Parts: sequence; C-alpha cells; structure tokens
Amino acid sequence: MTAKKKPSLTYQLVNASVDSDDYSLDKPEEACGVFGVYAPEKEVAKLAYFGLYALQHRGQESAGIATLEGDIIHLHKDMGLVSQVFKPEILQELTGILAVGHTRYSTTGSSHKANAQPVVLETRLGNLSLAHNGNLVNTYELRRNLEQRGCNFNTSTDSEMIAVAIAQEVDEGKDWLEAARNAFSLCSGAYSLVIGTPQGLMGVRDPNGVRPLVIGILEGETSRYVLASETCALDIIGADYLREVEPGELVWITGEGLSSFHWATQPQRKLCIFEMIYFARPDSLMHDETLYSYRVRLGQQLAKESCVKADLVMGVPDSGIPAAIGFSQVSGIAYGEGLIKNRYVGRTFIQPTQHMRESGIKMKLNPLKDVLQGKRVIMVDDSIVRGTTSRKIVKALRDAGAKEVHMRISSPPVTHPCFYGIDTDNQSQLIAATKSVADICEQIGVDSLAYLSWKGMLDVTGEDTNSFCSACFTGDYPIAIPDDVKRSKLILEEAKI
Ligand code: SF4
Repeated sequence: MTAKKKPSLTYQLVNASVDSDDYSLDKPEEACGVFGVYAPEKEVAKLAYFGLYALQHRGQESAGIATLEGDIIHLHKDMGLVSQVFKPEILQELTGILAVGHTRYSTTGSSHKANAQPVVLETRLGNLSLAHNGNLVNTYELRRNLEQRGCNFNTSTDSEMIAVAIAQEVDEGKDWLEAARNAFSLCSGAYSLVIGTPQGLMGVRDPNGVRPLVIGILEGETSRYVLASETCALDIIGADYLREVEPGELVWITGEGLSSFHWATQPQRKLCIFEMIYFARPDSLMHDETLYSYRVRLGQQLAKESCVKADLVMGVPDSGIPAAIGFSQVSGIAYGEGLIKNRYVGRTFIQPTQHMRESGIKMKLNPLKDVLQGKRVIMVDDSIVRGTTSRKIVKALRDAGAKEVHMRISSPPVTHPCFYGIDTDNQSQLIAATKSVADICEQIGVDSLAYLSWKGMLDVTGEDTNSFCSACFTGDYPIAIPDDVKRSKLILEEAKI
C-alpha cells in the first residue's frame, strides 16, 4: 500500500520571521494546537478558523484547515499565523460537514511548509485528515515497521507516520475504528489527535493523556460537536464545554451522535504539568477551574516558601502575572506593574537595527521608571529555561531605578529536556542543569533567586499528584524513551545511558 498525500488546493507564501529579541525565545515552545468540528449545515471552516485563532499560542509557524463532505476534501495550509494563512475567499472554498484544523510549532521534522498540518491521505475508505499535538518517541521503529509493509512518506513528521499507520490498516480491510486502534498500538509517546474521515470525526488521546483535548457542543445544538486542545477554543465559537477526552479514549462523532471507546489497556493519566504552569491559556479550564486560578495558587505557595522583604511584587508579562498576584496576596507586599508589554510585537517582517538590538528587550517589555524608582522589587516569572532574557529584563529594571531585584519562579528548576512535544532544547542548554542557584543569580544579576518546590507545585493542583508528568523537573519520564532518542537530548547524562 502506498499512502499518497492529497495535494493542497491553494498555497500562499507568508514570509514571517521571528523577532530575535522576542522574550518568548527564552521559554519552552508548545508543539501544536488541534481543533475539529462536526456540524452539517454550519460554516465549519469559519468555526475552525476562530478555534485556531484562539489556539494561536500553541504554535505560530504554520496553520491549516481541511474540510470534508463525503469523498470531497478541501485543504489549505501554509507557513504563518492563522490570520496570515486564511483570508475570507479561502475560507469560502473550504466547504464540508466537518473540519480539522491545526496550528504548528515544529518539534519532530523541520520547520517547512511541507510539514504543515493537517496531514491528508487517500485510503480505501476515502480521504483522511489528521491533526496531531504531541511527539512520538518510537518514530524510528514505527517508520521501519511501516516501510516494511510497503508504505511511503512525504514528510519527516511523526504525525504523518500516525496517519500512514491508520491508512495502512484501512487498506488492509479494517474499518476506521479498528484501523485507528491497531495503529495506536504501534505508537509510543504523546498524541492528542483530531482525525476527519468521510464517515465521521475522531478525537483521541494517548494512554497517558500527556497533551490536553476537550469536547464541546455548539450552543443550542444537540449533536454538533467540537474537539479542541483547550477550552478557550470552545468559548470563542460559542460552544459549551462538555468534558475532556480521557487518556486512552477515542471519541467518534457522526450524524448519529458521539460514541466513546476506551482502547488502551492500561491508561494512566500523566498530564504535562507545564500545560498548567505556562503553555495553556490562563482562561482555559483544566480540572474544572481556569488555569489563572491555579497559577495564582502557585504564587501563593511560592510566597509561603520564599518570601523576602520588598516594596513591590510584579510579574513578567503576561505569563508571570497570575503568580505575582498570588505572591502579593500571601506576602502582603503591594502588587504593581513594573513592565509594560507591547502586545503587537511578536513576529515582524523587519529586523530591528543594531542599536535597537543592543538596547535589550525594550521592544517587547518596557519598564515603568516612576513605579520602579528606588524600590526593592520581587519579580515573579513562571519559569527560567535558558536564562538568556532574564538578564536583560533585570538590567532594564535596574536601569529604571530598581534598588534591589529578587527573582521568584513559580515552578521548580528545569533540568531535563522534554521528549513529549515541547521544545526545551537539549539538556546542556538548560541553565538549571548546568548551574547552581548562586551561579544563576550572578549570571542574571539578581539580588536573590528562589524556585517553587516540586511538591508545592503539585500540591496546589488539588489533584492526585501522580497524575502529572513533571519529568523536565525530575528526569522521571513516564513513557519509556529509547536510548538513541535519549542520547539526542540528554547530553549531560549521555555517559550513563
Ligand atoms: S517533560 Fe516537562 S514539558 Fe514535557 S510533558 Fe513532561 S512536564 Fe511537560
């Protein structure tokens, strides 16, 4: 069987480049956002567009939507932000009864238009379109298995491998559900999937549920379902949140409604704790509360663990703000804003001048001099990964007149890379893997630095602390990683592997 990629209908070239002074470059990058909607007689492409618009934070390199109706599939995908890739006339061409959408930040596979999703393949039962969030850890083995069965590949992504594995099973005579279950039994790693077929829409989470996936229903409708990485994508299209897809569950949505299948033999929830600390939007729900509320509690716990005398508590915008508010509530130290973020800087077509580059992070974050002048400041952030930008921010605060700068981090030190769909580089690039707290303090130029404890981070979830992956803080990976894959990132521990 040769799984062929259906050519896209249209492409447009978007020449986006990343602002090199973007503060987000010092943060781990989320891998992807996925979205699906089954809604005959609705403008499914438009619903997918707005769903992806709400999920833009999960991937800014490329975006795509595929719509299906029976044997007819329409696809548009390209490099760039959702608002750059789609125009009204393109959305008008994307007709169908269901849509699958994707925003991408590359992990496995290079950053290239050919790797943009959804992946589309022809099968015996018609076209399949697949959107994937996560990362497989057994790609070498899976690819070899599929090649031995005669499959070909068009890209270097693990997402295409999953689609090809399903298509292969279909072409060997299985129906969609059996084909999908057989394909997943070959996959190891993190995968939240939305899959469109001529017969219905599928939503799947891996047996550990590492990446999120939720189900919603369009307001006032009985069987118009939505699948999305986060609940913020339901809110934007007026869909009500029903529940999350369980780890190891497959939901199958057709004209007859939604059916659920628990296909994994030993599901064990291991939701990525970083989704809760930083990646997912603060207005998204997890465990029936907004992540804003969890992040405020992280700050409260941080204040209990590592308060210091100061005049002002501030957060690094935007992601450090909820924890800073929590820190202020418990410490009794006034909360205020010390940095203003230019919300329209992120991606730019024009590179800054050399002089602007040397002026540090002010393109994105500008300090409030009259607020900071003569103050002892506690600056709260959600994480330090490489430490490259923290130094610039601290310098900007001191230049603006801050007398002391104490840094407080609402998560533990990141000492290990992620293999499950988050780009945290290799271990040697993680500042906490190679330096002590005292050394980091000196490097970024703060008067003191403290991280939240691992126990504190998990305790304030209010959930079973075993139900999270926190491997980037501990090195305790819940899904086994082949040695050759480990070697590619665990540089400092290579000798032990
Ligand atoms: S290793 Fe870290 S970033 Fe990766 S899934 Fe686990 S907690 Fe999340």
